[in-house]
Amino acid sequence: MLKIENLSVHYGMIQAVRDVSFEVNEGEIVSLIGANGAGKTTILRTISGLIQPSKGTISFEGEAIQKRPPRKIVEKGISQVPEGRHVFPGLTVQENLEMGAYLRKEKDLASEYETVFQKFPILKERVKQDASTLSGGEQQMLAMGRALMSKPRLLLLDEPSMGLAPIFIKEIFTIIQEIQKQGTTVLLIEQNAKMALTIANRGYVLETGNVVLQGTGQELLASDEVKKAYLGG
Ligand code: ATP
Repeated sequence: MLKIENLSVHYGMIQAVRDVSFEVNEGEIVSLIGANGAGKTTILRTISGLIQPSKGTISFEGEAIQKRPPRKIVEKGISQVPEGRHVFPGLTVQENLEMGAYLRKEKDLASEYETVFQKFPILKERVKQDASTLSGGEQQMLAMGRALMSKPRLLLLDEPSMGLAPIFIKEIFTIIQEIQKQGTTVLLIEQNAKMALTIANRGYVLETGNVVLQGTGQELLASDEVKKAYLGG
């Protein structure tokens, strides 16, 4: 479904991603794990068209998308939930969800709200509340709901567990699995390697802009290198 080949990304003179190749097959959850600064966010932002790569190709269902603007990439069926949620303060929960649906037809919206509210009942309870007054976990749910409003076929999640209490982390990961079961493919970036690999079909480990290990979620969880570097021994 998504194929990244020899991707390099620079910020001026700084190279953040070095010759990275990986793929995501339809129906999978694929996790990218790695320490701070390994280049994970840069890869997601490049897939979404927010940064131009200096080298390499990104193809989605056989079509090269690396020169496409972000709007076209959303139209193709890829949505991103950014690190830190970035819900729109001053807008209600409903208005935030609406922002995620700007490419959808008006007549499809009612059923889309229902789908999102089924997954995140708390959002229905808070539908008129200013998004900035939601808790961190609720804001993460809103950011995920907003991305789902465009009915993506591939959902990109950047550190959904960051800063959340353990109970919310568990809930968010359960919801990610439900999203997969309902037919959306997921590319997940996480510092919480244990959770991310537990739910992943496959994973890749990034270090300073390079893919250094890959395997199924279970293989990576069992790997000595992963245990030592990311699972606390
Ligand atoms: P984190 O989990 O901390 O977000 P990450 O793996 O997502 O880390 P990136 O945010 O992709 O890593 O950063 C990769 C490298 O690129 C880092 O060395 C970072 O300092 C650098 N970098 C990121 N954004 C910029 C920018 N706008 N300008 C310059 N350098 C940047």
